[in-house]
Amino acid sequence: MTDQPTTLLILGASGDLTQRLLLPGLGTLFKEEPQRAVTVVGADRLELSDDDWRSRVRGAMAQAQLPDDLAAPVVDGTRYVQTDALDQGQLSSLLAATTEPLIIYFALPPSVTVKVCALLEKIGVPRGTRLALEKPFGSDLASARELNKQLLRVVPENDIYRIDHFLGVNTILNLLGIRFANRLLMPIWSNEHIDRVEITYDESLALEGRAGYYDKAGALLDMIQSHLLEILAFFSLEAPATMHAEEIRSLKAQVLRAVHPWGHDPASASRRARYTAGTLGDRQIPNYVDEDGVDPQRGTETLAQLTLQLDNARWAGVPFVLRSGKAIGTACKRITVTFKAPAHVPSGFKDSPRPDRLILDIKPGAVTLDLSMNAEGDPFELEQKELQAELGKPRMLPYGEILGAILDGDPFMTIRGDEAEELWRIVEPVLAEWEAGHVELEEYAAGSAGPEGWDRPPR
Ligand code: NDP
Repeated sequence: MTDQPTTLLILGASGDLTQRLLLPGLGTLFKEEPQRAVTVVGADRLELSDDDWRSRVRGAMAQAQLPDDLAAPVVDGTRYVQTDALDQGQLSSLLAATTEPLIIYFALPPSVTVKVCALLEKIGVPRGTRLALEKPFGSDLASARELNKQLLRVVPENDIYRIDHFLGVNTILNLLGIRFANRLLMPIWSNEHIDRVEITYDESLALEGRAGYYDKAGALLDMIQSHLLEILAFFSLEAPATMHAEEIRSLKAQVLRAVHPWGHDPASASRRARYTAGTLGDRQIPNYVDEDGVDPQRGTETLAQLTLQLDNARWAGVPFVLRSGKAIGTACKRITVTFKAPAHVPSGFKDSPRPDRLILDIKPGAVTLDLSMNAEGDPFELEQKELQAELGKPRMLPYGEILGAILDGDPFMTIRGDEAEELWRIVEPVLAEWEAGHVELEEYAAGSAGPEGWDRPPR
């Protein structure tokens, strides 16, 4: 871990991401690693006094439960610069007044980020400057490629940190530990033993006032194109020799290149739906299309499901079902691995065994193994027993982990350029089928489990 003094320049400092996720994440990093020496500089179009900005930073540090004596130097050292990042003069002055080494965090709307990167190419950045870019990375494959080229004209690949905050979630990285740090699972992690993999991220949250962003993205882009495909990559990559960032990122890119819609048919491999009015707990949820800021003509889905195949020797024939939805009655954030039936079950048992399953809960973290056995009562009857371990609480918020890694210059928890392009390559054909109207936009009541006739998420 580095304690080298570093400037974290946040562009878009008065936005939602900065306030709700970035600054509190940073607070949890300082709490865990107080020797970090980071000067936070906030920049945004909003007119904000240094005092107002400091009070926002102080609030975020308090939210992270950072003790006052650790929060004080962060708050005292931070400053705010009102800046239009699209104004070349203002951007140059901002950079000129910033101490190196420098991390520029783009907490800006994606379209603004692209333009600011173009300006940085003209202005130049100090050698060693790290660029942290939020998702979405580009708006399709072509624009992601273009942005990659653009960025490489500003800094080398190793100084580009494409963020997916799921990579800072401890239960996602646990996929490497649980697969490769024990003898039991690695030999059975293939199509020889695994029948089906479901990666589900159903939330009971509805739109929650985020139409400005969500109505243009939808469930496929918001969740599957980024977070769930990253989970799939960690789940299915080949065995690494080391935990070196380049090795893991290469293996992720390698396996993503094998991913295609099931049957190479993006229309039949995908489903989409949108919630209508309903009840979630004690809350009445309005019809999605009646929510403030929603344009019904966009036909945005709030639930998406995509079945994928991996065209390689390890995974050929195994469906990977990725699903994510909003306003679902029961939240379900987990990976479910269903194993094939045993080659032979001795005759004489009174029942057939149910399939063995390994369930990896993402939030809160837990690992459950469902195994058939003749456990109780009649010794010739089979039943399924559950072995469960809860995973410890994360030591910091995902954004804390990610910012810590960027400060260390370690790209492990971020996405390499070729990976970012693969993520678009996989979903683009699906989007094309949806735009052509080849996949019906179904409906489900908020608070339900999804449309009638869809598979229920496991358990
Ligand atoms: P917001 O719109 O809330 O914030 C963006 C900020 O950038 C605003 O304060 C905006 O100011 C400012 N801004 C826009 N143009 C300029 C400019 N030319 N110069 C300086 N500042 C400017 O967006 P979010 O914070 O929600 O999102 C930021 C990024 O993070 C996006 O890429 C998003 O996809 C990503 N992200 C967001 C998450 C979230 O939960 N919010 C989660 C994961 C990723 P103004 O209000 O004046 O336009």
